[in-house]
Amino acid sequence: MALARRPPPELFKLALNRWTQPFWEATRQHRLLLARCADCGHARMPPTPFCPRCQSQQLRWQELSGAATVYSFTVVERAIMPGMQDHLPYVPAVLSLAGADGARLISNVVDVELSAIRVGMPVQVVWDDVPDQQVAIPRFTRVPEHSIR
Ligand SMILES: [Zn+2]
Repeated sequence: MALARRPPPELFKLALNRWTQPFWEATRQHRLLLARCADCGHARMPPTPFCPRCQSQQLRWQELSGAATVYSFTVVERAIMPGMQDHLPYVPAVLSLAGADGARLISNVVDVELSAIRVGMPVQVVWDDVPDQQVAIPRFTRVPEHSIR
């Protein structure tokens, strides 16, 4: 049985800007936020300077439950750089976020048997703290069967 593992946090290098900073500050409290246009409500992930629908620069932040479904994924079984060798296999994935009007987040599916990962699989956010950068990385893992509604 091969489990989806985590890319090493030491390879995680975060470049904050004024548009993404609120998202990452909330991760310290393990809160997953979605940027919405404050004028037309359009959801956008990642947060960008201009709303693609109405060009507004005003944002409001909505807290999400952390529930999502797997939209797309791949399994990485070969290290693309030396630091990855001990962290294989890992599963980059595009997640459709619940309550986000179709907005998606690129992250990883973790701690799930590779053969069980499917498009459409319900997943839930889990947090990997990166203390030296004072953020936490949202990853996603399988929802226990009994809690699927
Ligand atoms: Zn807008």
